[in-house]
Amino acid sequence: MSESPIFVTRPELPPLEDFLPYLQEIWETRVLTNNGPFHQKLEAALCEYLGVPYISLFTNATLALVTALQALRVTGEVITTPYSFVATAHSLMWNGIKPVFVDIDPVTLNLDPLRIEAAITPQTTAIMPVHCYGTPCDVDAIRRIADDYDLKVIYDAAHAFGVQRQEGDVMRSVLNHGDLSVLSFHATKVFNTLEGGAIISPDARTKQRIDHLKNFGFVNETTVVATGINGKMSEVNAALGLLQLKHVDHAITRRSEVESTYRQLFTDVPGLRMLDIPANAQRNHSYFPILIEPGFGASRDDVYQALKVRNVFARRYFYPLISDFPMYRGLPSASAANLPVSHTTASQVLCLPIFPSLTDVDIEHIASIVQSTPSSTL
Ligand SMILES: *Cc1c(COP(=O)(O)O)cnc(C)c1O
Repeated sequence: MSESPIFVTRPELPPLEDFLPYLQEIWETRVLTNNGPFHQKLEAALCEYLGVPYISLFTNATLALVTALQALRVTGEVITTPYSFVATAHSLMWNGIKPVFVDIDPVTLNLDPLRIEAAITPQTTAIMPVHCYGTPCDVDAIRRIADDYDLKVIYDAAHAFGVQRQEGDVMRSVLNHGDLSVLSFHATKVFNTLEGGAIISPDARTKQRIDHLKNFGFVNETTVVATGINGKMSEVNAALGLLQLKHVDHAITRRSEVESTYRQLFTDVPGLRMLDIPANAQRNHSYFPILIEPGFGASRDDVYQALKVRNVFARRYFYPLISDFPMYRGLPSASAANLPVSHTTASQVLCLPIFPSLTDVDIEHIASIVQSTPSSTL
């Protein structure tokens, strides 16, 4: 039964012939980077599509996170989640900031706002939560804590492209919360520019500062105002983004269908938990995590292996926890006793393949391997 491999995702790309005219223009104008016309067009198009005021494109989200912390002059300690991709905490370390890990909420798998205050010290200057799998964080509770203690909030919104929350009568982008939000346009994300990322700013002044920081700190030919980095997105990546944007709604719709099919097939499977669908939110269906709980009759790793031998490559996002990597595990906040929900979740989670070109036959095949794992590992 093992046909061609199925990976956790398969990047979307537009038809190649549609991209050629964009490349032709780049070849003719010889504007390859440094805030060129495609870069400017993509920034405008993304502000419009996402419903955000200001955006600065980056080479990738990791450099954008590093730069966001610099832009707000964050120092000392930052409260963050261990249940994320390692770049979240790495961006702190690249700024000489000490990560302080706080446990996650068992329902949303996002930073648990009820545990944040206990982790605040005189050195704390910011909170860096993650909208994990695109599920919005409790942005109101986080804002209240940040206001009380005068902390900055930088959202790692790498999973949250296009995610909206109902606020009053309107749907608003979750990216409008926090002092800054950071998106990733990496190949594996819902919207990709091959590699890429962005920072959402609330005002023009902050965007300008960020645009200086991503260009070595230059403000003009001869003036350098900060120890900036090179984080600029190239014209080829920006042009691809413009084209990708035309197809992203369709891709998200198909992802939503894939998720629904999985949810139907997994209804009432004992010990197999799916995440609650958040109320009043427009999601992007970027991941399809399942939790293999004790009542399932096989372990998460049994399921992972059963899929793997049949050429289905699910991923254990997020195992290991960031706090268990060698550069973090010595921190007091990294202890297992401090992070019980994160530890349990990391041992149970499995992200199943989800992408627009996944067929219903594939989904049924994957679901049947998952469901038959307990009997096949007896
Ligand atoms: C993908 C990802 C990143 C890093 O994004 P890059 O664009 O690859 O640098 C950071 N944080 C989270 C939560 C991610 O999933």
